[in-house]
Amino acid sequence: MRKLLFLCLLIGSINAERSQALSADDLATREGEIVFGQAWLKSTRSRLGERIDPFCIDLFETWLTRLKNQFDLGTMPMTALCLNSQEFNAFAAPGGIVGMNRGVYLDLKSESEVMAVLAHELAHLAQRHHYRGLRNSERLSTGTLATLAGVVAAIATRQGQAAQSLIMGGQAANATSALAYSREYEREADRIGVTALQGAGYPPAAMSRVLQVLAEKQSQATRDLAFLSTHPLGIERQSDLDARIAQMSFSDARTPVLSAHDFTMFRCIQTENLQISVHTNPTTDCQPIHRILEHYRNEKFQEALSLFDALPKTVRNTFSGLDIEIALTIQSGDFDRAAEAIDTIALFFPSWLQPSIARVDLTIARGVPELPRELRDHMVQRPERLDLWRALARYAQAFKKDHLLFEARGWDALLNGKLEASKTQLSRARDAWPKTLNQRPLQLLEKAIKQTASL
Ligand SMILES: [Zn+2]
Repeated sequence: MRKLLFLCLLIGSINAERSQALSADDLATREGEIVFGQAWLKSTRSRLGERIDPFCIDLFETWLTRLKNQFDLGTMPMTALCLNSQEFNAFAAPGGIVGMNRGVYLDLKSESEVMAVLAHELAHLAQRHHYRGLRNSERLSTGTLATLAGVVAAIATRQGQAAQSLIMGGQAANATSALAYSREYEREADRIGVTALQGAGYPPAAMSRVLQVLAEKQSQATRDLAFLSTHPLGIERQSDLDARIAQMSFSDARTPVLSAHDFTMFRCIQTENLQISVHTNPTTDCQPIHRILEHYRNEKFQEALSLFDALPKTVRNTFSGLDIEIALTIQSGDFDRAAEAIDTIALFFPSWLQPSIARVDLTIARGVPELPRELRDHMVQRPERLDLWRALARYAQAFKKDHLLFEARGWDALLNGKLEASKTQLSRARDAWPKTLNQRPLQLLEKAIKQTASL
């Protein structure tokens, strides 16, 4: 602890001219956690391997929202990150940032199991394990301490590169023990997570299934890396939890966000092109979907659409099915069908951004420059959604609207922690902005840049 405090003091003095130098103590309050988390995200975002998939992000947010009120998390915002890695991993960073690799869908076969993973991660946040880990640092190794201090230092000194190798939680944790949660915290997250899972209307047994997957992965890793004498932590955690689950009653099942058919479809989309050599064909049921997606990637849109239309109705008529249908019909020129599919998702999920983003792509395909009316509202309310700005950039490029392209790039740079680049794009946007057009978008970007600069 002493060593860490010293380092934080040092950072404080380096940044004495800044009003709000970050230190570990900033994790002491919920507000501080959010500031810390957002700063961390900006410094790391471009290297996380994010999957800019509006449907995945919206769904992930919906899942988090369902779980969130089972925890004492107050008004903490949730940032959902769909990540490309094929590793079985998810992580939570302070300030409500939760990331999940698409690799989890090789093993997780139901929404309940995904919710179990997320409940575990939210439990880490609710129990403030990041902060408590720092406070009880004498129990942690000096390596972990140094790593944590390094994260703080890297953020405070804006050394994005350094922060990148010090990812908190998940990703790097297994390999490098960077902020490896103590076993005690893992058990606590399992315990509190399973109660939340039940409270949200999902069977507690799903948590046990997830721990079983973890245990299998660990024994696999132990076999692969025989020189490592890892403890079968997953197995220990599972037996602890099974005793608890046996005593839990479960009667208030809630309808999942996705039906079983829908989840399978979503899972197939997420596992596209993943190397499944270590798996004994867990996604064979996905082969027809993977074929469709392969045709799509090879720009054989008609073939892809024919294959899609030949799928059973129960599979096609899912939200994930509609997501594929939208992409295929936009590309193959069946615009009315695309519009209908978009409207269906919008009807069922009015808060989702995916329909608006799909409307942008439909507009581009139609060749008629007309931004969906609600898009500006989303940009004001959800400027942290990178997929919105990427959609605006596509639109701006398609219709040669430089002012919008600079605006979109300004936000993109800002969300990726490139403050100077963001300022440059803002000034370009200002120069290109039509005089008769509302200036508010420029003001919003300027305000966000100022906020980031003051950290
Ligand atoms: Zn954990």
